[in-house]
Amino acid sequence: MKITFLGAAKTVTGSCYLVQFNNKNFLVDCGMFQGHSKENEFNEEPFPFNAADIDYILLTHSHIDHSGRIPKIYKDGFRGQVICTKATHDLCQIMLPDSGFIQEHEAEWKNRKLIRAGKSPIPPMYTAEEAMQSLKLFKYISYYEDVSLSDDLRVRFLDAGHILGSSILEIWVRENGHETKIVFSGDLGNNDLPILRAPDIIEDADYLIIESTYGNRLHSQTEDRVHKLMNIMKETIDRGGNVIIPSFAVGRTQEIIYEIHKFKEEYPEYVKFLNETPVYIDSPLAISATEVFRNNLDCFDEEAQTYVRNGDNPLDFPGLKLSKSADDSKALNEDQVPKIIISASGMCEAGRIRHHLKHNLWKPESSILFVGYQAVGTLGRRLTDGAKKVKLFGEEISVNAKIEVIEGYSGHADQNGLIDWVKHIKNKPKKVFIVHGEPDAQEVFSKLLDEKFGFDTVIPEYADHFDLTIGDVVETPFKETKDKFIRLQLLSQIEILQEQADFIGMHINQAYLNNKSDEEIEELQSKLSDLDRDLVSIRANLIK
Ligand SMILES: [Zn+2]
Repeated sequence: MKITFLGAAKTVTGSCYLVQFNNKNFLVDCGMFQGHSKENEFNEEPFPFNAADIDYILLTHSHIDHSGRIPKIYKDGFRGQVICTKATHDLCQIMLPDSGFIQEHEAEWKNRKLIRAGKSPIPPMYTAEEAMQSLKLFKYISYYEDVSLSDDLRVRFLDAGHILGSSILEIWVRENGHETKIVFSGDLGNNDLPILRAPDIIEDADYLIIESTYGNRLHSQTEDRVHKLMNIMKETIDRGGNVIIPSFAVGRTQEIIYEIHKFKEEYPEYVKFLNETPVYIDSPLAISATEVFRNNLDCFDEEAQTYVRNGDNPLDFPGLKLSKSADDSKALNEDQVPKIIISASGMCEAGRIRHHLKHNLWKPESSILFVGYQAVGTLGRRLTDGAKKVKLFGEEISVNAKIEVIEGYSGHADQNGLIDWVKHIKNKPKKVFIVHGEPDAQEVFSKLLDEKFGFDTVIPEYADHFDLTIGDVVETPFKETKDKFIRLQLLSQIEILQEQADFIGMHINQAYLNNKSDEEIEELQSKLSDLDRDLVSIRANLIK
């Protein structure tokens, strides 16, 4: 059996692993790269294998960085089955066509530029229609069901507690009369997440492929997050402002609704406030996703199921309003009643949230409340980093609203969570592959697995190819694709450095305005001189 790492290898996005045995080929996940623009260009690259040769895609969960290239592989000739849980199937039914719309939109935008430059237009990676077509290849199975896909391949999906329908995969492969068990952790959830169950436990594996997003970090305490949420809401509404919550449409939005519902049950003193304050979900995708959640109650944890059993819908409450059309959304900004608006995208890069920011960032009485991770380079990150002015729709907007951040809603297990999960594995896997993490997190996590459990760990790079019968990395069969990947990754790093330079520039301006001490300025000068020397030497080496 051979495994090739074709995504989420020393990065967190683009999950895609190719497993080959007995002339069969299957993928675990077929996700999109979602990083900097250069890294995203890699999504357009042809798959390094023949799409028609793939028999199955075993899909761990619906997040686009795990599922987003399924319509593309379908377009390229894949006609096998996509195996996943029902909730993953239901979520992909809305998320993949939505991703298709985004691709169409982006292609349109790029093409306007290309045509002006006298070049030929390009087609989108896939359209909403093509995404719809790819859905017919989906076949869903139940959690814990032992499914034989053929006489030499068996799978079982366990709950990963990361997003509705998310799974840990147990895969048994029979080769030369010998059965091998591979476990893919998928994205492992955080025990404290509302609605979802804690990740299921695995007790044995011959090979383990484990995520490491928070392999070097611990989440802050979650006890007070819901009180903090309520206090920010109440204070803002009391001073006549709006609370704008940029939120991922699938998962985080439903968790926030659930938290508000639960708070209302547990703290009667807030009932009056919550009954009088309208809460809007302003994102068509979030509205459809909430519907999917309501249709998959069996995936809920015990607490959420208790509400359901008592005839109470935990994803609804009297003040909750859905704003479906673009006109509904615009009307929210004309109406002067203080309100709470939950809208996407979560990092403020696209979608209706940008309109709400334009109408609220300049108002000192409003609050912008972040409940999710903000990647470097996004508008969300600039705001949480303290930008005083931002550009929206070509207009410069002053940031006067209160910028608030609540941590503790991460969908991923932190370092302790990962170790707690691993410690249930009784045998020592022959190898543990660490994926889905930034290199720093992976190094720390790899050392920890070695120290605590004596595991033989590997941090694979893009296109690394292992023959598990030999046990070692063999020459990559996809050298050309690997070179392209490395080039785009380097260009992405440069993009990040450029953004960091802009950020430092902004702070230097502010430092002078705030009368920083001479020592602080001197320290900054010396650090910048060091950086300057490094850059000059890199440049000189390149020219040589
Ligand atoms: Zn995920």
